[in-house]
Amino acid sequence: MDRLNTRNILKRKKHKLEGNNYNCILCSNNLEETAFHLFFSCPFSQACWQYLGIHWDFSMDFFHMLIQAKQQFQSPFFMEIFIIGAWQIWKQRNNFIFDRGRPSFSSWKQSFLDEANLQALRLCDSKRVIFLFLLAVQSSVVGSLPFSVVRLSFFSAPPRTPLLSFCSCTVLLLVVSRTVVGLRFILNKNFTVGASHAVF
Ligand SMILES: [Zn+2]
Repeated sequence: MDRLNTRNILKRKKHKLEGNNYNCILCSNNLEETAFHLFFSCPFSQACWQYLGIHWDFSMDFFHMLIQAKQQFQSPFFMEIFIIGAWQIWKQRNNFIFDRGRPSFSSWKQSFLDEANLQALRLCDSKRVIFLFLLAVQSSVVGSLPFSVVRLSFFSAPPRTPLLSFCSCTVLLLVVSRTVVGLRFILNKNFTVGASHAVF
């Protein structure tokens, strides 16, 4: 992570920043912008991870924290989701610094979904179908539900109690009832991406 020119790295390299300000610009906590703060402990990033259902245990060392988050995520797409999420946090930060817009959760969320749809092209056919379906459902449908709730309804073990069964069925019904909208989103995306891809 130290390869990224976060503000604390620029400070170490003796780069002079305006106002001698090396603090994180994604939050108002007046904390120096380290890679760890920017991508993990910043309140802005935490909101993003919460939306994705990724939980970080800061009591652990970095690598164990990653491993535990991956295990808890319960989906084969942890690395894809994590990298895209982090990349979009970095872009939100850069957009502000280079006067391309103010950071916002809604902007991050839209960029995340757009990028995830593009990256889906790298997956094999069978994985891509599941990945895109998950994204389509999330983006067009259950916008108000956390990503984790939707994900769990597809990837977790069968519910074992009547309450869990009821909750799972409710989520599933909600998802199915909006599937048409989701599929339309996939088709639109694939058509647009396919058209631009053909140029190369
Ligand atoms: Zn911050």
